[in-house]
Amino acid sequence: MTDRKAELAANLAQVEERIASACAAAGREREEVTLVVVTKTYPASDVRILHELGVRQVAENRDQDAAPKAAACADLSLRWHFVGQLQTNKVRSVASYADFVQSVDRVKLVNALSAAAGRDGRELGCLIQVALDAESGERGERGGVAPDGVEELAAAVESAPGLRLAGLMTVAPLAGPFAGRQRAAFDRLMEISSRLRGNHPAANMVSAGMSADLEDAVAAGATHVRVGTAVLGVRPGLG
Ligand SMILES: *Cc1c(COP(=O)(O)O)cnc(C)c1O
Repeated sequence: MTDRKAELAANLAQVEERIASACAAAGREREEVTLVVVTKTYPASDVRILHELGVRQVAENRDQDAAPKAAACADLSLRWHFVGQLQTNKVRSVASYADFVQSVDRVKLVNALSAAAGRDGRELGCLIQVALDAESGERGERGGVAPDGVEELAAAVESAPGLRLAGLMTVAPLAGPFAGRQRAAFDRLMEISSRLRGNHPAANMVSAGMSADLEDAVAAGATHVRVGTAVLGVRPGLG
């Protein structure tokens, strides 16, 4: 085993242990939570190693990095999640490799994704990104729609050809009433998810929690955690 493979295997084992403990503490089955490894800033060679170690779901936040990486790993059975702020001019590229777009936050993006998915004959799973700190009618600093805008977007996704409404995603806010209160933030997301599922029962994915706060997300009821640093190491520079 290479040093890098040994390092990633050890990190994965630790994250797995954290998820399993959090599930046990919350009285949840381990199978209820899916680990999505965020590979942004790390090379395709790491994605390959992760695949060898059993990882099947990966996430990226910039199309410029994700597109060549997904192409380099096209022979692997992986599901790619796009989790970054998405400009409409990148949608065509993202729709060619992504299985899920977790950062859907405006109707214009829904329309662009639908057109691109139709062109490629693919179905894209869409998660609506909720900005828990955004005021009504506004978007969050790191993307996301205010909670009271979720239903309108959900209806738009549901009626858009080529798209499947999969659920909700959030990033715990750094500012506002939820700053430093991840558990409260994720509980709020679960309330919004319950309401959403009332109208859209199949939209049952709840993507919340990262390296620092995955336990809070599992306790609240998240179905997907997005973990980068704890698996791959601290990212150099931005990202
Ligand atoms: C980078 C990123 C993550 C992973 O963050 P870590 O702290 O490295 O685990 C999760 N979600 C989104 C949207 C990200 O951009």
